[in-house]
Amino acid sequence: MNGEEIKKIESEKIVHTYGRYDVVAESGKGATLKDVNGKEYIDFTSGIGVNSFGFCDDEWVKAVCEQAGKMQHISNLYYTEPCVKLADLLTEKTGMAKAFFCNSGAEANETAIKIARKYGSTVKGVRSNRIITLIDSFHGRTMATITATGQDHYHEFFTPFVDGFSYCQPGDIEGLKKLMGADVCAIMIEMIQGEGGVLDLDGEFVSAISNLCKENDCLLIVDEVQTGAGRTGKMFAYQHYGLEPDVVTFAKGVGGGLPIGGVICNEKTCDILVPGDHGTTFGGNPVACAGAVSVVSRMDDAFLAAVTAKGEKIRAALAGLDEVEAISGKGMMVGIKLKNKKAGDVVNAGIEAGLLLLTAKDKVRLLPPLSISDAELEKGLEILKGLLTA
Ligand SMILES: *Cc1c(COP(=O)(O)O)cnc(C)c1O
Repeated sequence: MNGEEIKKIESEKIVHTYGRYDVVAESGKGATLKDVNGKEYIDFTSGIGVNSFGFCDDEWVKAVCEQAGKMQHISNLYYTEPCVKLADLLTEKTGMAKAFFCNSGAEANETAIKIARKYGSTVKGVRSNRIITLIDSFHGRTMATITATGQDHYHEFFTPFVDGFSYCQPGDIEGLKKLMGADVCAIMIEMIQGEGGVLDLDGEFVSAISNLCKENDCLLIVDEVQTGAGRTGKMFAYQHYGLEPDVVTFAKGVGGGLPIGGVICNEKTCDILVPGDHGTTFGGNPVACAGAVSVVSRMDDAFLAAVTAKGEKIRAALAGLDEVEAISGKGMMVGIKLKNKKAGDVVNAGIEAGLLLLTAKDKVRLLPPLSISDAELEKGLEILKGLLTA
């Protein structure tokens, strides 16, 4: 099929839940994508923070192909090595106790919500099931996770929503204290709100959340679906804040390109779910886990330091450009607040010029592959500089 045929059939045969850019993607290597016409693009999106090592990284491809040729799937009724190895790595890198695997960020957050609700109704002893989330958060597209998502836009049409969520303005410590009560079982936060506009939580607010959770015996759930897997220069973004979450949720970048999600639990939360409480057919899939092991096992201190250095290089290149009002985020998760231009127009101009970018609300968002080469990074930044110069 050529590009025009693909676009035509897409418009006729696929439910229109996505506004797509005018690129028909065909293949990629590293941070370079090729479309069906042979045009090349520098990729500053990583498939929204998924392709941590870029397109078709040799080690990741080898790990995935070897596992696919050995045993592609078996149910969770049996033991397998790849998911055990991944759980071992994730707990080692967080100092937490146990992991559970599913297939997406939304499912990871569903799992955390179920853990919190069961903790509230069994361990706390009082009927405690309310979860506080933040305004401008994003936690997924399932019924419970759109309810958890603190953006009105997601709360149209799909009534009735799941009961038991309340929303706090990020930074509003007094407001959070007012929302707290004996019926609260958890507070769920992103350390940097991704879809909400690459908004960093401030340290004082984060400490207040942590203290309130301890004082009120409720769980601290950190949604690291976008910020995890080395994206911010630490394995998980909460590690910048010295936090001790009870449940960490992950997905996107951990798999390096295959669907995987999950939660990591501390000692307090790791035995709340028992056989029959929760599960999913594909959770812990050997191929997805083999890919994730190849990703996570390479995220050592030197790798994370390189992510930090590349993040600094990006920020230095952007500072002072005509259109740049402010830069947010950490490491290689970058939000660019523009002065006059519209983020969507910058992204479209980027496509013309051979650079793939993301938006987040009114910002331009960058999530380049963590392993991007210096040459690709420089090439992408040169194009970006042109786009952000009046
Ligand atoms: C993308 C995202 C999700 C949802 O993940 P899916 O895999 O699309 O279900 C949840 N939380 C955050 C912070 C995200 O960025």
